[in-house]
Amino acid sequence: MNDFSSELTPEQLKVQQLARQFSRSEILPAAAHHDKTGEYPWEIIKKVHALGLMNHHIAEEYGGSDVGSFESAMIMEEFGYGCTGISTAIDCNNLGQIPVVLAGNHEQKKKYLGRMIDEPLMCAYCVTEPGAGSDVASIQTKAEKKGDDYVLNGQKMWITNGGHANWYFVLARTNPDPKAPPHQSLTGFIVDRHTPGLTPGRKEINLGQRASDTRGITFEDVLVPKENVLIGEGAGFKIAMGAFDRTRPTVASGAVGLAQRALDEATQYATRRYTFGVPIVKHQLIMGMLAEMAMNIELSRLAWMRAAWETDQRRRNTYYASIAKAMAADVANKCATDALQIFGGNGYNTEYPIEKLMRDAKIYQIFEGTAQIQRLIIARELTARFANLSL
Ligand SMILES: Cc1cc2nc3c(=O)[nH]c(=O)nc-3n(C[C@H](O)[C@H](O)[C@H](O)COP(=O)(O)OP(=O)(O)OC[C@H]3O[C@@H](n4cnc5c(N)ncnc54)[C@H](O)[C@@H]3O)c2cc1C
Repeated sequence: MNDFSSELTPEQLKVQQLARQFSRSEILPAAAHHDKTGEYPWEIIKKVHALGLMNHHIAEEYGGSDVGSFESAMIMEEFGYGCTGISTAIDCNNLGQIPVVLAGNHEQKKKYLGRMIDEPLMCAYCVTEPGAGSDVASIQTKAEKKGDDYVLNGQKMWITNGGHANWYFVLARTNPDPKAPPHQSLTGFIVDRHTPGLTPGRKEINLGQRASDTRGITFEDVLVPKENVLIGEGAGFKIAMGAFDRTRPTVASGAVGLAQRALDEATQYATRRYTFGVPIVKHQLIMGMLAEMAMNIELSRLAWMRAAWETDQRRRNTYYASIAKAMAADVANKCATDALQIFGGNGYNTEYPIEKLMRDAKIYQIFEGTAQIQRLIIARELTARFANLSL
């Protein structure tokens, strides 16, 4: 096992450079357009796919590069700097794929992961429902066994890539007994987009990250072959929750990218904007805000690095992943707000990039486990460790 280091290897620096260059030259200039129109960033996704900078966790055996969580998060920080609406669309392929990476058999991986290397295709993680978000164990979508198939009925909500996915990871209830615990009653399925009865709803108009596509998905007598069950009945809850340990570091790094962008924009503006005869960066209260932003960004970057590194060491990283995700989300929101403050009236206007950063930042405190749920996980992990200590 290597010791933890935040110093990038020459190979990692090369990947970072490639992602940075792409983000600055292709994502950042297109961000305002996709924010205004809500148009899905297909052209950018095709280029990212051609560069081999997406689908990071697919093993070489299935055509992928399996670059590791650290590199994956590093790429997502760069993309997040350009536009987190676009980086979320790209990163959600990781979220959709991880259940298959972790729990799929050889045939499932070959069929569903392999095709994503061959062409730029999207997938989605379909767990949340109108009545159940944080409380995943309460989902109501049913899967009933009929011969060699399962019949899915229910309604999912807030599914990123919902309208563009080629296939979905879907969590459904296979045991109708409401008292059955989630690790016995919930099952994970891979469902092809064009299965009759599966209908994506309209694109939701969200506060921010408008390049990303979020929809409800309806399942009406959707037939799924038993070959598409991940592991077996009852395994779904653990698969769905386990995926977050792998994906939260990249969500955190995307938020760090946004925070860094806010700091860079604010610093540049503060050197050019004059009040009382001096650039505003000379005012100590402005300097203090910039310094706070820088401190918090450096710390949240270290947090995603540690969380991603733990995974690459094949160690359980739940504690670090939740710390990274919670912290980076809060820091992104604080940095965007403070950057807007430094821009004054201009920051409040759509001609400047800051109001978008502020709108985009908010979702980081909601999806992939809210700010409150992360704290519950951190405290749970902490108390479990504490219980094992003899003081
Ligand atoms: C843009 C967007 C994209 C999304 N993408 C996806 C996706 O791709 N796939 C997917 O499956 N889902 C997705 N989601 C859903 C997202 O994960 C949920 O919205 C989130 O988990 C919160 O669930 P909820 O909205 O039902 O809020 P609720 O669970 O109803 O929570 C409401 C409030 O109560 C708080 N709360 C809940 N329980 C507790 C508790 N025990 N202690 C303290 N506070 C608590 C929450 O923190 C929150 O502040 C997305 C959501 C959005 C908005």
